[in-house]
Amino acid sequence: MHQLTLAEIARGLADKKFSSEELTKTLLARIAQLDPQLNSFISLTEDLALQQAKAADARRANGESGALLGAPIAHKDLFCTQGIRTSCGSKMLDNFKAPYDATVVAKLAAAGAVTLGKTNMDEFAMGSANESSYYGAVKNPWNLEHVPGGSSGGSAAAVAARLLPAATATDTGGSIRQPAAFTNLTGLKPTYGRVSRWGMIAYASSLDQGGPLARTAEDCAILLQGMAGFDANDSTSIDEPVPDYSASLNSSLQGLRIGVPKEYFSAGLDPRIAELIHNSIKALEKLGAVIKEISLPNMQHAIPAYYVIAPAEASSNLSRFDGVRFGHRCEDPKNLEDLYKRSRGEGFGPEVQRRIMVGAYALSAGYYDAYYLKAQKIRRLVKNDFMAAFNEVDIILGPTTPNPAWKLGAKNSDPVAAYLEDVYTITANLAGLPGLSMPAGFVDGLPVGVQLLAPYFQEGRLLNVAHQYQLNTDWHTRTPTGF
Ligand code: GLN
Repeated sequence: MHQLTLAEIARGLADKKFSSEELTKTLLARIAQLDPQLNSFISLTEDLALQQAKAADARRANGESGALLGAPIAHKDLFCTQGIRTSCGSKMLDNFKAPYDATVVAKLAAAGAVTLGKTNMDEFAMGSANESSYYGAVKNPWNLEHVPGGSSGGSAAAVAARLLPAATATDTGGSIRQPAAFTNLTGLKPTYGRVSRWGMIAYASSLDQGGPLARTAEDCAILLQGMAGFDANDSTSIDEPVPDYSASLNSSLQGLRIGVPKEYFSAGLDPRIAELIHNSIKALEKLGAVIKEISLPNMQHAIPAYYVIAPAEASSNLSRFDGVRFGHRCEDPKNLEDLYKRSRGEGFGPEVQRRIMVGAYALSAGYYDAYYLKAQKIRRLVKNDFMAAFNEVDIILGPTTPNPAWKLGAKNSDPVAAYLEDVYTITANLAGLPGLSMPAGFVDGLPVGVQLLAPYFQEGRLLNVAHQYQLNTDWHTRTPTGF
């Protein structure tokens, strides 16, 4: 039963082949048995899950239907869940029980999804390896000595290991797409404003976006359907109708114009990944797509701009964790300053502290123009590059990451080396565009992802291309040994 996709689960439940309660029990037992190897969960919510599963079974018995009714999922541990620990992977929030549900959590619960637990993540979503979590590193089910990617590494490892069919995640600079690539999953970062950020603990508010991680594009369509939509509680949420994402999956790719940026194939790209990307281009050409070389000339400036803007926003967002309003409080403070310093010094790990310092520096009076303002100008140039490219093509295609998943600990002493791995993903966040990563093959037994980018609100098109690709390839069906 653990091999079933969301789409297959929906059919099985509708045909009464099994109940949501049976499925939930099976998956909870599987998590108990296998997750100790992976560390993909921070909290399990067995009681809630069984209660939700029984309620979903009762709703089905009453004639209700729906693709998510009774479907087991998990939430990245930065989505607030009422009465349940929401740690953000940090000691700072180790004992924080959210007083309300995030909009995404509430919407999925209303659709009948069953929450099995909260997944591990890099502390405050800062990282690309899931090694900065206060709850320890997550292991990649494809090779337990390698990282699963981050920051949504727990969601990715759990879905890849077939502990559950799909999970929520968030992407500020690649944290849905990069772990999807590293674990052979399909992951979608929606257009900025498509999915509500209310109750999603902020890292960098102008870049953060929630989205689905699953094994197939078909399942991403189902989960996104439950997550997307306008929310008056999020002032950056966009009031646009949500299309039926499953309805467009089968559109033909005949004549689809795919742009391949020449800057993507630079020296930093592992040539074995380049070859797999060329194979996926050929597969899409066979389906009728037309390939065109394009240019994104400002791409080279994206990493420095992102690593100014994201820490700047983080330094502001994380100021609320001061031991008074939110978060860990130190023992016996001598005075207010001592309370702030020690609470924050004890509560935040080294990567978070590094980013707060970088961000506060970039925003400080003497340096604001030189760093923050300059980075914002680069951000506009990156967006303009995309707008020009989308005049000529419908989709942009390239690798999701320059290298496959690295070994645990390999980049711990060199944060900049890890930042450079985000080269292909962060531009979509800077521009607010939707992006998807899907399985494209293996290098040394480790999965490789191909990334697709589309114009604003064209998530349906990304899912359509990925679904057609998955009907004609079988990379996404491969299962890691031992799971
Ligand atoms: N690796 C990037 C960072 O550390 C992206 C993380 C994310 O998308 N949350 O900022």
